[in-house]
Amino acid sequence: MGYRKGTAVWVEDKDHAWVEAEIIESSEKSISVLTTDGRKITTTNEKLLPRDGDADHGGVDDMTKLAYLNEPGVLFNLAQRYSLNEIYTYTGSILIAVNPFTRLPHLYNVHMMEQYKGVQLGELSPHVFAIADASYRQVMAMMHDRRSQSVLVSGESGAGKTETTKLIMQYLTFVGGRVTGDFRSVEQQVLESNPLLEAFGNARTVRNDNSSRFGKFVEIQFDRTGRISGAAIRTYLLERSRVVQIMDPERNYHCFYQLCASGKVNQDAEKYKLDNPRNFHYLNQSKTYELQGISSSEAYQKTRRAMDIVGITLIDQEAIFRTLAAVLHLGNIEFSPGEEHDSSIIKDEKANFHLRMAADLFMVDANLLFTTLSTRTIQTREGSIMKALDCSAASAGRDALAKTVYARLFDWLVENINKSIGQDPDSRFQIGVLDIYGFECFKNNSFEQFCINFANEKLQQHFNEHVFKMEQEEYRREEINWSYIDFVDNQDVLDLIEKKPIGIISLLDEACMLPKSTHGTFTTKLFQNFQSHKRLQKNKFSQADFTLSHYAGKVTYQTELFLEKNRDYIVLEYQALLSSSKCPFISGLFGLQKEEPSRSSYKFSSVASRFKQQLQALMETLNSTEPHYIRCIKPSSLNCPQMFENQSVLHQLRCGGVLEAIRISLAGYPTRRTYSEFVDRFGILAQEIIYERFGEKTLTERIIKKLKLENFQLGRTKVFLRAGQIAILDARRAEVL
Ligand code: ADP
Ligand code: MG
Repeated sequence: MGYRKGTAVWVEDKDHAWVEAEIIESSEKSISVLTTDGRKITTTNEKLLPRDGDADHGGVDDMTKLAYLNEPGVLFNLAQRYSLNEIYTYTGSILIAVNPFTRLPHLYNVHMMEQYKGVQLGELSPHVFAIADASYRQVMAMMHDRRSQSVLVSGESGAGKTETTKLIMQYLTFVGGRVTGDFRSVEQQVLESNPLLEAFGNARTVRNDNSSRFGKFVEIQFDRTGRISGAAIRTYLLERSRVVQIMDPERNYHCFYQLCASGKVNQDAEKYKLDNPRNFHYLNQSKTYELQGISSSEAYQKTRRAMDIVGITLIDQEAIFRTLAAVLHLGNIEFSPGEEHDSSIIKDEKANFHLRMAADLFMVDANLLFTTLSTRTIQTREGSIMKALDCSAASAGRDALAKTVYARLFDWLVENINKSIGQDPDSRFQIGVLDIYGFECFKNNSFEQFCINFANEKLQQHFNEHVFKMEQEEYRREEINWSYIDFVDNQDVLDLIEKKPIGIISLLDEACMLPKSTHGTFTTKLFQNFQSHKRLQKNKFSQADFTLSHYAGKVTYQTELFLEKNRDYIVLEYQALLSSSKCPFISGLFGLQKEEPSRSSYKFSSVASRFKQQLQALMETLNSTEPHYIRCIKPSSLNCPQMFENQSVLHQLRCGGVLEAIRISLAGYPTRRTYSEFVDRFGILAQEIIYERFGEKTLTERIIKKLKLENFQLGRTKVFLRAGQIAILDARRAEVL
C-alpha cells in the first residue's frame, strides 16, 4: 500500500517496540517517516503499521473500539490509560489489569462495590468488580439451568493475580454475604483463608515480596437465594525446595519469620528456642530477613487471628508452630564423617542441641531421629540390611524430611480450612476463582517451569476455545456468514507433553522408575521418540537440554534435576519416625495414608503425573463453567508506579493470549461499527447519497460499494470489515478532508 504524506503510522523501534510517526515521503523502494520525538527514519513497509491519527488522548476503555486493532494500538492504549491511573481495560469481555504498584483505595471501597452491583458489563469503567458482578449476575438471572462461573486470573509473577483474586472474593462476599456481623461467618472464613495460606505458601522472591508459591482454585458455593453457603479450596504444586534452600534476596515462607518474631506477642519463640532467624540454616542462606513495610510480629498476630477465624483450635495452632520450629532446628543438624567408611555422626555439641530440640518438638525419640537421618534400610532377598549414610546423604535426607513435613503441614491447612468453612452439598451454583502462576521463561528453566508452562498450555487451549466461541456467537447474533479460519492450535504441544504411553511425562516417569536411568538417557529417549516433532528441538550445545515451542515462545529446559524433582519419595523410615510422635497432630500428618508395603523402602510417586491429574480435574471443572478472563500485567520490572516498559508488556500480552485473541479476531472481521458510527465517520465519502433518505444500513452499503471494498458483511446492527479495510477508508477520507 502506498502511503500519502502525512499519514499517521507506527514505526518499529528496538527500544520502545513501536513509536508514533508520520509519513513524509513514500516511494516504491523506501518510505521516510518523522517520529513524534523528531527523528527522521527511512524504513520499509513491513516495519510500519497504520495508526489512528484521530485517536482520543484518553484512550478507549475497550480495545475493540480501536480504529486499528494492531499491536502498537493495543500497547499505546494501555500505556495512555495507565498514565491516567486507569489500570483496567477490556478487550471484548477480557479484562486487562495493569498493576499500579501503589494503593488506589478509591477504586476498591464499599461505595465502588455498590456502584458495580447489578450493572451491565461495559456500562461503567472497566473494573475487576464488573467482572465479579457479571459472573454473579449471570447465574442469578437464570432461575433454572444455572451454570457455574469461573474467573481465571493469570499473569506473570508480581503482575497482581493474588491481589485481583482477593478483590473478586471481597466483591463476591459483599454481594453474597449475610449481614450477621458474625466473627466466623462463612464469608469471613473464606476471606481469612487468604492471609493464612499466604503465611504458609507465600514468600519473598526477586519479582514479588509476597509471591505465591502454589496455585489456587477457590470455589465459592451459593445457595438458591444467592447467598454464600460454603467454599472449597484446591491448591497446586507448592514449591517445596524453598523450605530448605533460598538465595539472597529471596526468603523462605513468611510463617518462619513470623514465628521467630512472635516473642513480642507470646512466649512461642522463647519456648521453641528461636531467638533469631540469623541462627538458622534454612533462613540464613539469604541475608534478607525483613520485608519492607511489614512487621513480622504483627504478621504473626494476623496469622494467629486468621487461624482463629478459620476455626483451627488452639491446640492445633500450638502444634503447627511447634512443627515449624522443629523444621528450623532440623535444618541446623550438621554431620561429620564417622569412623566407619561412609558413615556420619553428629558434628558437634551445637548440632546435637538442635537434634535434641527437633526431636523434642516433633515429640519423637532423639536416637530414632538420628538413626533415621544417618542410616537407610535396604530390602534384599536375604532380608533387610541397614546401610550407613555419608554426610552429604545424611544432609540430603534431613532436607528431604523437612520438605516432606512442610508439604504435609500445608496440605493439612488446606484440608482443615475446607473442613471448617464447610461444603454445601445442596449448593445451586459455584463461582470459582483461579490464581495460578503464569508462563515462565528464565535463563535456567527446570522441572518447575516445565510443570507451570504445561499448566499454561492447558489454560491457553481453554482460552482460545473460549475466545473463538465468543467470536462465533457475535457473528451468529449479527446473522452473518462466516466459516471459520484456523488458528494455531496447541493440541500438538499438549500431546507431546502428556500423551500416554509416550509423551514427555510418561518418559520421565519411566526414567524415574528404571534404576539405571539418568537425565541423559531420558533426553536421548525423548529425541528418539520425537525425532522431527516441530514443537521439540535439541540444543546444539547441551545434549541434556530440550527446547519446547510453547504458544508463548520457546523455552529451553535443563533436565539435570528433572528425575530427582519428579520423584516424590515417601521414605518409609520418615513415615515410621513421625508416626511414632507423641503429638497427635504430627503423627496424624503421617498416619493418614496407609502405604502399601513395598520391597524397597522408597516408594515412587510422580510429581508430574499427579500434577497432570490435578490439571485434568481442574479443566473438567472449568469446562463445566462459563469462564471470565482477567489478564494481569506487570508494567515495571522494578515494581515502581508509573513506569511502563513497552517490550515487556508486549511480551506479557503475548503470553496471556491477548495478542492471540486479537489475532483470532483479525482472521475474521475484526472491525465492527454500528451503522450510525460508520456513517458518521465515512458519510463524507459519499456526499451525493448521504442526503437521500436511506436507512443507515443502506447508506453504509452504498458507501462501501462505491469504494469497491470487497469482503465485508452487513450484520443486523453492525457492519463487519476485514483487517486493513478501515485503513483504506481512512486514507480516502483524508483525501477528501
Ligand atoms: P502475583 O500474585 O501476580 O504474583 P500480587 O497479586 O502478589 O502478584 O501483586 C504483587 C504486588 O503488586 C502486591 O503486593 C501489591 O503491592 C501490588 N499490587 C497488585 N495489584 C494491585 C492493585 N490492584 N492495587 C495496588 N497494588 C497492587
Ligand atoms: Mg500470587
